[in-house]
Amino acid sequence: MLDTTIETVTEIEKQVPVAGEADVLVAGAGPAGMVAALAAARAGAGVCLLEGMFIDTTGDGDLAARAGCGYDLGKDESGACQPMTFMALVTAEDLNALGPHICFWDGGEPKKHKTVNYRAVESFYSEIRRAGIEPSYQQTKLFQIQGNLMSLMVNHEYGASAINAEDITRASVSGRAEIHRIVKGLKSLGGPWAGLQLVATCEQIGVREGRRIHGHYTVSAEDLAVGRQHEDAVCTVYFGVDIHSTDGKKSTSQDEAAHKATMRPYQIPMRALIAKDVDNLLLGGRCLSGDFIAHSSYRVTGTAAATGQASGIAAALAAQTHTAPASIEWPEIREQLQMLTQSE
Ligand SMILES: Cc1cc2nc3c(=O)[nH]c(=O)nc-3n(C[C@H](O)[C@H](O)[C@H](O)COP(=O)(O)OP(=O)(O)OC[C@H]3O[C@@H](n4cnc5c(N)ncnc54)[C@H](O)[C@@H]3O)c2cc1C
Repeated sequence: MLDTTIETVTEIEKQVPVAGEADVLVAGAGPAGMVAALAAARAGAGVCLLEGMFIDTTGDGDLAARAGCGYDLGKDESGACQPMTFMALVTAEDLNALGPHICFWDGGEPKKHKTVNYRAVESFYSEIRRAGIEPSYQQTKLFQIQGNLMSLMVNHEYGASAINAEDITRASVSGRAEIHRIVKGLKSLGGPWAGLQLVATCEQIGVREGRRIHGHYTVSAEDLAVGRQHEDAVCTVYFGVDIHSTDGKKSTSQDEAAHKATMRPYQIPMRALIAKDVDNLLLGGRCLSGDFIAHSSYRVTGTAAATGQASGIAAALAAQTHTAPASIEWPEIREQLQMLTQSE
């Protein structure tokens, strides 16, 4: 039976309606869409029939690319992308003894305001090498999360493309294997490492970089250098240029492209969230419209949330007024954003 009413589940604490689960998502309610949805429902699937506005928050711009949007991927010349990283959670008995190898460690709970303690990075790297292992990433880090729980950042998978499923599978398998190798190697050192336990690994490798979909504005390295401000600014970015080397053979720290770049707090305009090639499509998060250098700075979680929020508002206004997002006046979006943020 076609589910014509979307069930919503309201999270008590946040009163945020969440769309229900669907096995089949039909995009477009024309004759083909309606019949497709009916057929799927009659075959027993939970169906969601979509008509209207779309927001691509897949990180890699999957929806926009399949809708025919133009995009850029990786470094201009080579198309090389930042490496992927397989993260893990570990625990240990005696953190005080491991303190010299833990980032942001001050003998107690995690420090609030923190800068990377590169002495701890170097000594942790030497410990891994003392265990007879050359890690794929030299800037190896142990982050204390809470109590004895820590996150392990020791893996970099180079040359894997976010838009190639085989690459992601290969990188995930290789990343997980390296995590097990390093934890086993450290435990073999004995002493404070003897109590090291692998708690969890992620289901899929972490992807830093995918497609950057062409929008009505492209955030550029020059915008970062001059700290560009915009009338239609949805957020200000303070995170610096952070390009993990795209070629592990050259260096496993920052990419040479990062050395040339400068950054002052800059703004992301609404126009960078509106797809140029498809009228009813918006973008949120790391697939928004920008160049390689700018992406390395705005790709972080805070900007992803802010740009997702702005696209959500613009999509709602466009759907309610049956107009394209590009023709929604910025003051209308800003007003709704302010109301939303004030009500939170
Ligand atoms: C190892 C690593 C460490 C990082 N450390 C930090 C940090 O310390 N601080 C920080 O702020 N940022 C950090 N980042 C960056 C940050 O995590 C991401 O850039 C951010 O999560 C981007 O958010 P997003 O919503 O755009 O994309 P993502 O977080 O990538 O989310 C995309 C979502 O879409 C889903 N998806 C993908 N393709 C499809 C599809 N075809 N159909 C349906 N769903 C799909 C994915 O499963 C995922 O749930 C790190 C990134 C990595 C990889």
